[in-house]
Amino acid sequence: MTTRAPKGTIDVLPPESGRWRMVLRAFDALAERYGYGLALTPLFEATELFARGVGEETEIVSKQMYSFTDKGGRSLTLRPEATASVVRAYLQEGRRGVLKCAYSGPMFRYEQPQAGRRRQFHQVGVEYLGEPSPDADVEVIEVGYRLLEEAGLGDVVVLLNSLGDPADRAAYRVLLGGFLQARAERLSEDSRRRLATNPLRVLDSKVDAPVVADAPSTLDHLGDDAAAHFGRVRAGLERRGIPYEIAPRLVRGLDYYDRTVFEYQARSYQAAQDALGGGGRYDPLAELLGGPPTPGVGLAMGVDRIVTAMPEAMGAERLDVFVVVADPVRRGEGLELVGTLRGAGLAVDLDLGGRSVKAQFKVAGRRGAAVAAVVGAEWDEGWVTVRAMATGEEQTVPIAEVAAWARAH
Ligand code: AMP
Repeated sequence: MTTRAPKGTIDVLPPESGRWRMVLRAFDALAERYGYGLALTPLFEATELFARGVGEETEIVSKQMYSFTDKGGRSLTLRPEATASVVRAYLQEGRRGVLKCAYSGPMFRYEQPQAGRRRQFHQVGVEYLGEPSPDADVEVIEVGYRLLEEAGLGDVVVLLNSLGDPADRAAYRVLLGGFLQARAERLSEDSRRRLATNPLRVLDSKVDAPVVADAPSTLDHLGDDAAAHFGRVRAGLERRGIPYEIAPRLVRGLDYYDRTVFEYQARSYQAAQDALGGGGRYDPLAELLGGPPTPGVGLAMGVDRIVTAMPEAMGAERLDVFVVVADPVRRGEGLELVGTLRGAGLAVDLDLGGRSVKAQFKVAGRRGAAVAAVVGAEWDEGWVTVRAMATGEEQTVPIAEVAAWARAH
């Protein structure tokens, strides 16, 4: 037996990877349309970045980090998320003002693997730095929503909440702490521990949902500024036709959020009620990392989960043309036609194994070719026989017209 992929990781190969390619491309195009440039940051960072940025008391930092000491004695960690890295890069370069950027890549968390939960998973996300306006929140939420739409997920709802400003949140924390303390004996062991360190996280707990169902809501304890901000986010979403529900228990696991937090859920993806993505405003983060006050809002989408939730038929492998070589002596001409069609921007392939015509047609079908172009004796007169795979319609056309015929079929 050869070595297997580590626990909690997957391999993605064709044809299944067609769906991945579709989502990654859709995200890339969306990010560009919405004005987000590309950000590339290291896959590993100083451990301290996540301890300070994400928060010592979070599950991600306290339990799930892939940390190691390198040969130089530095403590490094495979990134569990990308926001801290992007903000670090912004601060390290001494940037000021607005920076909009998008990222895509693997993240690492030492989780108990289960459906929708892996140790290496792929996120795409955007960060909108330096902009306090609630319209930035709306834009970021819209990017994620449109991505899910493009992935064929029409049944998505945005769960929306506001954590308020840091002062609101501190006061709420005390209030919530009191509420939970009074019910401590009904809470799970995990939640009792969190009660002392990070009571907001208890609201995230699935097992304790019944106990926290009537906990006080952050929304009833927003200061005027945070309440006005939240009102404008809601109005903006309504203007953009993005369906949302107020989710008073949504707090998200990371420490750096303030004001708006959100998650995307799809009725077609119900595994453990897990979100397809989420994000929020993180105005305190830059200062936590030792930088000047810098507002920011961002989102991260879980590509593994989106791909699982997508309609089966989407992202199927397809080719515009499969070139069938009727006689092995025509291999050279076949390759010439493939080259011409690829040069014309079409997705084209052929079989190099010298298989029979029948077998080549079979491969053409399996590979999702729209058109088969047969290179045979008529090549010498400048002709190729083309066949629309779906209908069986067949025609003999001049070599120079194969591309146009394929585009029309
Ligand atoms: P988070 O910031 O932790 O909410 O992560 C944002 C999104 O990334 C989630 O909504 C998931 O879609 C995805 N995600 C987070 N953790 C995992 C994981 N362990 N395995 C697969 N996807 C994940």
